[in-house]
Amino acid sequence: MANSLKHLLVCKFVATLLAVLLLFSPVLLRAQQTSATNVLSAEERDLSASVKVETIKEVTAALSSVEMQGRGTMQAGGDRAADYIAQRFAKLGLKPLGKTSYMQPITFRETRFLPETSFRLGEDPFTLGTDYVVTPPYSGDKSVSGQLVFVAYGLTSNVPKRDDLAGIDVKGKIVVMLEGPPKNVDKLSWSKAKAQMTIMQRLVYQGAAGLVFVNTGTADRPYSEMADYLTRRRLELAENEEMPSFLPPFLTFSNEAAEKLFVGSGLTFDQALELADREGFKPISLKKSAKITIRLKKTKGISNNVIGFLEGSDPTLKAEGLVYTAHYDAYGVDKGNRIYHGAADNALGVAEMIAAAEALTQSHARIRRSIIFLAVTGEEYGGFGSSYWIDNPTWKIKQIAANLNFDGMGTEVYGPVKTLVGYGAEHSSLGALLKDVAAATGLTVIADPRPEEKSFYRSDHYYFVKKGVPGLMILGAPEGEISAWINRMKEWEKIDYHQPTDVVRPDWNWEGPRTMAALGVILGFRIANQDQMPSWIPNSPFNRERGTNKPPPPLQ
Ligand SMILES: [Zn+2]
Repeated sequence: MANSLKHLLVCKFVATLLAVLLLFSPVLLRAQQTSATNVLSAEERDLSASVKVETIKEVTAALSSVEMQGRGTMQAGGDRAADYIAQRFAKLGLKPLGKTSYMQPITFRETRFLPETSFRLGEDPFTLGTDYVVTPPYSGDKSVSGQLVFVAYGLTSNVPKRDDLAGIDVKGKIVVMLEGPPKNVDKLSWSKAKAQMTIMQRLVYQGAAGLVFVNTGTADRPYSEMADYLTRRRLELAENEEMPSFLPPFLTFSNEAAEKLFVGSGLTFDQALELADREGFKPISLKKSAKITIRLKKTKGISNNVIGFLEGSDPTLKAEGLVYTAHYDAYGVDKGNRIYHGAADNALGVAEMIAAAEALTQSHARIRRSIIFLAVTGEEYGGFGSSYWIDNPTWKIKQIAANLNFDGMGTEVYGPVKTLVGYGAEHSSLGALLKDVAAATGLTVIADPRPEEKSFYRSDHYYFVKKGVPGLMILGAPEGEISAWINRMKEWEKIDYHQPTDVVRPDWNWEGPRTMAALGVILGFRIANQDQMPSWIPNSPFNRERGTNKPPPPLQ
């Protein structure tokens, strides 16, 4: 009954044979290679070591120089930057992937306010910017005048019971109002019900001559910040439809200017605000009229995405491409002759992408899939370069493996990078990949410390994600207390973010950007060589087919 000695020996022989055979099996070989995913292979170590800090410094300095004029979309500085990037791509031997060589031209429409734009209370002129701003959407030139009436939130509803428009006809009036919700209404249900939109639509259809929002600033987002952005030139794709001309002007007032609107009405601005949240609010006539004039200058022009690629080595997989993105635009020259240098945001990101391209093109390692480098324009005005490329792709969307995006707040210059945040990591297999690569390089991945900022929705990778392509943007930060670098970032955000003072500083630690570029290289290298393209986590709301036309899930 027991096993004979012979049987045991045969079994042992078979087992040994199997073991030897398995050792040489391609399946196991691959499994062995990929099982050590949290260790860098020799090729990956070489690739990582070949990322040059000098390249990052040089490109960042060049793109944020005075010569590049803040790389304005539809401005000469932007064109110069596009040429510079194309030359760098050519030097690296990347193949052109634009419409004409490396360039993908995009037609933009720029809108500026002419000095004739004005708000007059009786005969008193108010100042655009300091006192008020014209809020998008704006359709075109306008001249309207009317009596001012304060309608609190303009809300007519049963729960809560209120009728802010009781007894008045808003036709031909300039409606002064607050942005909702009222204090006793929950923010979430307010936004779910699209209550603000409904209120504004109703006022428009009832013939309001203009809408003036007051008391809009918060401690985090003061009026002055909003006014700064809304008085800059505005860009959009020229193909985007213009707003219908029947829309009345929408204005937003500073609190100081709002106080003036209430003078002579029998109550102060503060008293009106208090009444607005009391039961039984009734509209208040401000007993004077105002005149709004809007004069716009619209110009069309071209700005380019710059695209090159490194062809993959695998005869089949080279048809699939991984796309790196980095936006090269900043706010250009605006508000007279101020230059918005955009060094941290995002000359640095472009420099990291170019350093990654340099390491990958000069490597002798086998790179199976193709790798696309896409430097986009028009990001700051609404992600236009990316959305245009996604809608007019120069590579088949179904064959785009993933997107890795370099953009950020420059936190990687605070010191050697030890901490990472992966925006979009939770939605696809790129999250596990990031974890592996982080572990292999001694970095720690943490959860987004500022989820309220919704950064995932705010840069180029998101346009890929919407289209069903897994995407990832990585923020790099130093080690130690998270609050220490978050505070430094918040301070920077307040003073330098999107301002002319976003320039290269002598205290920048360049090892950080090098780590970011090296990380991007290893991630890209692994994506390019995996058997399968990255996949969505099954229950992610973004789990959709590449190339989908479905609208994206609502903001979370
Ligand atoms: Zn940016």
